[in-house]
Amino acid sequence: MSKAKVVILGAGYAGLRALKSLQSKRLDIDITIVNKNSFHYESTYLHEVASGAHNAERISYEIKTVINPKQTTLIEDTVVVVNKDDKTVELEKTGLISFDYLIFALGFESESFGIKGVEHYGLPVVDIETAQKVDQHLRTQFSKYNETKDDAYLSVAVCGAGFTSIEYIGELTLQLPKLVKQYAVPIEKVQISCIEAMSTLLPMFDEKLADFGIQKLKDRGVNFIVGTPIKELTADSVIYEEAGELKSIKAKTIVWTTGVKGSSIVEASGFEQRRNRVMVENDLTAPGYPDIFIIGDCSAVMDSSTNRPYPPTAQIALKQGINAADNIEAKLKEKAMKPFTFTALGTVCSIGNNQAIGEVLGRNLKGYPASVMKKVIGDRSLIETGGVKIVATKGRFDFYR
Ligand code: FAD
Ligand code: NAD
Repeated sequence: MSKAKVVILGAGYAGLRALKSLQSKRLDIDITIVNKNSFHYESTYLHEVASGAHNAERISYEIKTVINPKQTTLIEDTVVVVNKDDKTVELEKTGLISFDYLIFALGFESESFGIKGVEHYGLPVVDIETAQKVDQHLRTQFSKYNETKDDAYLSVAVCGAGFTSIEYIGELTLQLPKLVKQYAVPIEKVQISCIEAMSTLLPMFDEKLADFGIQKLKDRGVNFIVGTPIKELTADSVIYEEAGELKSIKAKTIVWTTGVKGSSIVEASGFEQRRNRVMVENDLTAPGYPDIFIIGDCSAVMDSSTNRPYPPTAQIALKQGINAADNIEAKLKEKAMKPFTFTALGTVCSIGNNQAIGEVLGRNLKGYPASVMKKVIGDRSLIETGGVKIVATKGRFDFYR
């Protein structure tokens, strides 16, 4: 009998952790992992690249370092569609590949909500390429200021005040002194605004904790415009609604971080979905497709305590990766599948380098201890998937920078 073929789509948090876990089981199977690039990047640090605080190398490593070549083949290619009834996947360059079991882990994309101008003028932060583009764009605008003396070139509008926006702003404000020096622009003319639809900022945290974080950013000069849904973007402005009236703010750098949806390949493949997230069965398979596991940001799992799906996070993606691998093993051994359960350990939101706010295991943390906690969580996950050597070579033990 030929070996069972397991195909993993996506080498992000979910896919790579599933691979690592499957390989460790020493099953008699062939594994193929497909990813756009030869490298894995830690999406949880993209704001550091977008703000220019770190380069892309620090948050990425070659996928082959995790691969056991005796069992696993890496295909560097782009997934076009999953033919779920034929059990094949179409890849841009390679063409069709077939599977017995599929782990679908293609991650997230930026959500435009159909708002006019977003596709043209909004700069998302969803992968290495887009994060680098944000940094390069801002640098270009700073250079143009010196040619034109137009203040709009020194104005940055960050759309939404979710975690990605706050973490980006936190890092950017710390990078600013270096940036203005490099481009010889007046720091007092640089304006960073954050425009949020909701009237409460960081509502997932206790009010005092959220205020602590937001005040830190205000102290660094950030202007928060709150309770003001964005209606349109133009080349140099963000138009928002305030008390029924349309207002605008000038900015040549518009960072679009108002939320995410799952990969568009979910919809292209005809899965039942909402914002490209599939409400999976409790064993993580797609409804009606018992050999297709959907994990990470392309999946939705109900949190019975809130009656809403858990927010898409690396924390849940990693746990799903392990669970999907366990369930493929169970299928091969004709054992019962393991239902997926999840308890969030907490959340930490960086407000720049060694400052953060967080709630971990029911305890509130702020300032430096919270930032250390965030780095420990990140490094632990890196060790578990990439190995200790990678953490050391990336200089990631530097909690005191
Ligand atoms: P991803 O990590 O996005 O991986 C998807 C992989 O699929 C990538 O390698 C991508 O290149 C590949 N891919 C995509 N499309 C294709 C295609 N068509 N063909 C081939 N390959 C493809 N969560 C936390 O828990 N804690 C945090 O502190 C945290 N911080 C965050 C900070 C930022 C700035 C952002 C943006 C997110 C953060 N998150 C955090 C959320 C977390 O990053 C995501 O939930 C997590 O990355 C989801 O993992 P995933 O494996 O589903 O997707
Ligand atoms: P998000 O959905 O968490 O936040 C988006 C914010 O944009 C919301 O506050 C929303 O009200 C606002 N918004 C939406 N439309 C708007 C509009 N038209 N005008 C103004 N504001 C608007 O999205 P995110 O920050 O990109 O995070 C995505 C996921 O990644 C979340 O699940 C988040 O928990 C996770 N994440 C976690 C961390 C962390 O744990 N430190 C960091 C970043 C992201």
